[in-house]
Amino acid sequence: MDLLEYQSKKIFSNTGIPVPRGEVSENPEEASNVAEKLGEVVLKAQVRAGGRGKAGGIKFASSPEEAEKRAGELLDMKIKGLKVEKLLVEEKLNIKKELYAGITIDRTAGKAVFMVSSEGGVDIEEVAKLSPKRIFSKHIEPFIGLYPYAARELASKLGLEIDEFKSISDIFLNLYRVFEKTDAHLAEINPVVVAEEGIYAADAKLVIDDDALFRQDFDRSKDMPYVELSGNIGCIVNGAGLAMATMDTIKYLGGEPANFLDIGGGASSNTMKKALEKVSSHPKVRVIFVNILGGITRCDEVARGILGVSEIEKPLVVRFRGTRAEEGSALLRDKGYNVERDMIKAAKLAIGMAEERED
Ligand code: GDP
Ligand code: MN
Repeated sequence: MDLLEYQSKKIFSNTGIPVPRGEVSENPEEASNVAEKLGEVVLKAQVRAGGRGKAGGIKFASSPEEAEKRAGELLDMKIKGLKVEKLLVEEKLNIKKELYAGITIDRTAGKAVFMVSSEGGVDIEEVAKLSPKRIFSKHIEPFIGLYPYAARELASKLGLEIDEFKSISDIFLNLYRVFEKTDAHLAEINPVVVAEEGIYAADAKLVIDDDALFRQDFDRSKDMPYVELSGNIGCIVNGAGLAMATMDTIKYLGGEPANFLDIGGGASSNTMKKALEKVSSHPKVRVIFVNILGGITRCDEVARGILGVSEIEKPLVVRFRGTRAEEGSALLRDKGYNVERDMIKAAKLAIGMAEERED
């Protein structure tokens, strides 16, 4: 899962990495209010794509009126085909130097690798191609982590002043803490800036390993594909193929889906809570059909997710098949939930319950 810049920055900041002051805005008026507080600002389109600067997704404004105007322009834009729905409005820094720092997994080595460069701000793949000697890297032993001396060794390659050296070594240590804590496969700051105002992570990128989402507690509700239809059965599924199969099955058996929400590969109780809230918020929903084909998503995790939600407003029919289906079913049956193994049977039950409640 790719986090947006502002989401990554929140995590970075909580882990001790300095980030510029700023706020998220969803319309020009909000952007203008933020600029009122911060003075000169940079407005940054929040989309899951790199190279926003080059694509026109970064704009500057020196007054609230200008911020309002630029925000309007950005919110009308598409960047690499992606609609801009949010902006991060930050204090504009007077930049002296732009550096690169990133941690990713080197699959061949079976270890994380920490890369730094004095050529930050630009496309790092270009630097790797044109001046590979400007990139320094160091593998990290997973059971040892990043020692302070190793962070300093990386920082020593960047031609820094002594006071910059200390702060930047600390940023490197904290970046590794973020990487480890969030089960990331990429944690990147491009650029780390040395500015007149101080040293900051001016950009932030965090990609979380999807296979670890079960133990990470991100609010994924906004990322979950959701489609509204006109029937009365709410559907929560995992995977696009299963979503279609579920719709087809319900229709074939004479029922009508009200909507469906695809929880993808995660199933923490937070995810399930958001999913159940979202699906039951549709006024026509009479019953919720949770159809899970366990793979990476474990049925027992989904079951715990459901049990972690204190109040479910609509009756549920759950169908579990695949990874840990038995464990998951046992957990829910213990609490009196309807759990089936067969999709047709489960769909028939849901359709029957929806009809009963319709009267
Ligand atoms: P990206 O293009 O998606 O990687 O977006 P970045 O957040 O990295 O911004 C791109 C570039 O915009 C940076 O490398 C900087 O050169 C510039 N930039 C971003 N924030 C500021 C700022 O506060 N002040 C100045 N002067 N430049 C900035
Ligand atoms: Mn960047």
